[in-house]
Amino acid sequence: MIKKLLIANRGEIAVRIIRTCKELGIETIVAYSEADKDSLSLRFADKSVCIGPANSKESYLNSRNIITAAALEGCEAIHPGVGFLAENPGFAREVEEAGIIFIGPKAEVIELLGDKVKAKQTAIKNKIPVIPGTKDPVDDEDQAVEQAKEIGFPIIIKAAAGGGGKGMRIVRNEKELKGILKIASHEAETAFSDGRVYLEKYLENPRHVEVQILADEKGNVVHLGERDCSVQQNHQKLIEESPSSGVTPEMRKAMGEDAVRLFKNLGYRGAGTIEFLVQDKNYYFMEVNARVQVEHPVSECISGVDIIKEQILTCSGDALNIEQKDISLHGYAIECRINAKTPGEVTLYLPPGGFNVRVDSFLYSGCKVSPFYDALLAKVIVFGDNRLEGIKRMQRALDEFILEGVETNISLQKSILAHPLFRKGKFGTDVLSHIIKEEKN
Ligand code: ADP
Repeated sequence: MIKKLLIANRGEIAVRIIRTCKELGIETIVAYSEADKDSLSLRFADKSVCIGPANSKESYLNSRNIITAAALEGCEAIHPGVGFLAENPGFAREVEEAGIIFIGPKAEVIELLGDKVKAKQTAIKNKIPVIPGTKDPVDDEDQAVEQAKEIGFPIIIKAAAGGGGKGMRIVRNEKELKGILKIASHEAETAFSDGRVYLEKYLENPRHVEVQILADEKGNVVHLGERDCSVQQNHQKLIEESPSSGVTPEMRKAMGEDAVRLFKNLGYRGAGTIEFLVQDKNYYFMEVNARVQVEHPVSECISGVDIIKEQILTCSGDALNIEQKDISLHGYAIECRINAKTPGEVTLYLPPGGFNVRVDSFLYSGCKVSPFYDALLAKVIVFGDNRLEGIKRMQRALDEFILEGVETNISLQKSILAHPLFRKGKFGTDVLSHIIKEEKN
């Protein structure tokens, strides 16, 4: 078992990782930027090391500083958290070359999965249904038009190296496609330093359903069921629930089996997620996230498994503690992401509590919300016997939430929870735009 671990991240995920490490008896060192010198993770960790200025390029993305800090502190492992360097194969490789364990899959696996085109080809090889589209990147306009006609409009142009909901363009006809391909490729080059783009059939209002996986280096792989992340704003998730109201028991079984087969064949280790789009009774592979995800607590609630614990242990060489037959998923869990609309000082913070309510956050009264990083302030996760009970509990929790000083999306979250479309459970990724449109009218 490792004794000392460096956390190369910030915010709520740094706090989340420290909590599990404490329970495992692992000493934590948190790497922080100058902007985060008063962050909660510094108070909870055993020690903290400043790795650079606020600009993440010089701190949270500065692999040399992070690895040097870990080596100087005698850390046996680095946890990259979510975002920043979590899915950077170069970083994973450098960490391992420095003789430190990277809490994530092997660099080659991250590399393969980070390329959406290659990931899709791998899914096809593993007999997993994929969204119809080009098998290779496209750069020639005429060729793209031919391929788009074959796939059938509408189509979506995606960046091979894309992520974070960025770099996607929906194209409804041939005329629109002409000219846009080069722009999309240019945008991808600017955002991801990789201009390769590919085409995919654009599914109208599908559901986003993903399966949580845990794997060890010995080839054991289990899944913890699915999460439905269809409530999105600009392709970014806002609410996640499990189980999904759009997945039948047969689909759940098939998706789980497909996921386990793929991760076994990848030689994957740690925590990972396979994302699907679902339309009617069909599901299609979209991509793999080779890391722990923001919404992992939802699966922890319904399975009783500490995902971060299993991730740390399996990446350190331990065998998985659990077999598929031991995993029983029960009840219903939902997470609402509370985002800041503006930076500023949190003048008063009093998170909700009570039966089956969990809040993962790094806020405290008087803390500052920095303009330098992402907007996620807190995740409210509740657990219930069934969907209706869970939604009502979440409404109660959000009503209780006191967060003053910065503007948040709590009232938007409340409108979604109260909306009949959401309550009925019959919706797709367009649900939020419907709700917002209605509110405007
Ligand atoms: P990223 O890696 O940037 O998060 P994803 O490929 O995971 O991007 O897609 C994010 C979201 O974009 C999906 O949840 C879905 O709402 C939408 N999306 C992606 N591909 C398609 C598609 N082919 N048809 C319809 N919606 C799509």
